[in-house]
Amino acid sequence: MKILVINTGSSSIKYELFDMEQHQVMASGMAEKIGEDTSLLTYRKTLPDGEPLEKVEEAVILDHRKGMNRIVEFLIDPEHGAIRDRDEISAVGHRVVHGGETFRTTTVIDEAVIAAIRENIPLAPLHNPANLIGIEIAGSVFPNALQVAVFDTAFHQTLPMKAFLYAIPFEMYEKEKVRRYGFHGTSHAYVAERAADYMGCPLAELNLITIHLGNGASMAAIRKGKSVDTTMGMTPLAGLVMGTRSGDVDPALPFFLADHLGMSLKDIEALLNKESGLKGICGTNDMRDVIKEMEAGDDRAKIALDIYAYRIKKYIGAYFAVLGRVDVVVFTAGIGENAPYIRKLCCRGLGGFGMEIDPERNTKAGNGIREISFLNSKVKILVIPTNEELRIAQETKAAVEPPFPGA
Ligand code: ADP
Repeated sequence: MKILVINTGSSSIKYELFDMEQHQVMASGMAEKIGEDTSLLTYRKTLPDGEPLEKVEEAVILDHRKGMNRIVEFLIDPEHGAIRDRDEISAVGHRVVHGGETFRTTTVIDEAVIAAIRENIPLAPLHNPANLIGIEIAGSVFPNALQVAVFDTAFHQTLPMKAFLYAIPFEMYEKEKVRRYGFHGTSHAYVAERAADYMGCPLAELNLITIHLGNGASMAAIRKGKSVDTTMGMTPLAGLVMGTRSGDVDPALPFFLADHLGMSLKDIEALLNKESGLKGICGTNDMRDVIKEMEAGDDRAKIALDIYAYRIKKYIGAYFAVLGRVDVVVFTAGIGENAPYIRKLCCRGLGGFGMEIDPERNTKAGNGIREISFLNSKVKILVIPTNEELRIAQETKAAVEPPFPGA
């Protein structure tokens, strides 16, 4: 079975084609800067001799439909294409950012599902419309493939009310669906499952804290495979300090900025989402650069990193309290997988919780799953590479292949 995974943004389409039987990525890439003067198309695949092939092309791509058609041309190109015919693709798995309370699981798309994703646009005004464009176009470009929606929010739909409800008038929840939803669900779910495999223990018997540190960052408290709390909220702005997002601030801050500085709502939104976080404190949002600047003696970079890790550490403590018992703490995504300095800062002084990071194992490079706690640490600390596209492909496969009775 071949599954195409698609992540459609406002000016980009990322894609990855999986052969599910061979457990391999057949091709991947991106159409970006759609609608701008010059767009970029990328196509990657591994040649039969094992050598990687990468084509990068500048083009004029006026809209998403043209972008998708160009991606298909790459995929079925007689010389370097991964498939001969678009009908070889059985299903298209779409990353959809906001499923609201409507979607608790991955769902095969039909008209009613499209309508429900549309209804959730007020909750994700930038993302859901782009995701809907991707669904609409993929439906016409791959008419014989099933379309499947995999939601960033679905994994966190198991949060209990005490964790998801804000202490504001209840009507805001009832009428306007204002509540904590949480995001990065595919990543948290994926690394939790990988952790259970690694531990040789059913996920249903484990309690975990998963820490996803990419450009966006969030944590989840997972009890017996179910998310019971998470740091992002109704939007991805809440919780941890991120590359350019503030994470938690006093909710009265926007009033101060408006009253005192005369900032508009739009300006405040941009300030908190695009100019804050690491970038706001030390001027750069790329963790590699922040660490370099800290090593070169930059005080602002040092404090940015301290604030970044301190917030994570506070939530680790909170989630220990939420879960009662923690078996595994997982670090994942660009920073979680690659920045031992951050992992060290986050875990420093948590020996009292039975969580002891081994400085040597923490700094040892490697791919795949790595254990970075001391052997006798009560709580295992793992580094697990995330793979959201693979998880979307797996969920898509499961959704279109129901287990038939007697099969
Ligand atoms: P996205 O959320 O866009 O998927 P990623 O998971 O790729 O983001 O994470 C991007 C972040 O990971 C960036 O801040 C980048 O600096 C950081 N990162 C990647 N490699 C390293 C590294 N070797 N050391 C420190 N940070 C790294």
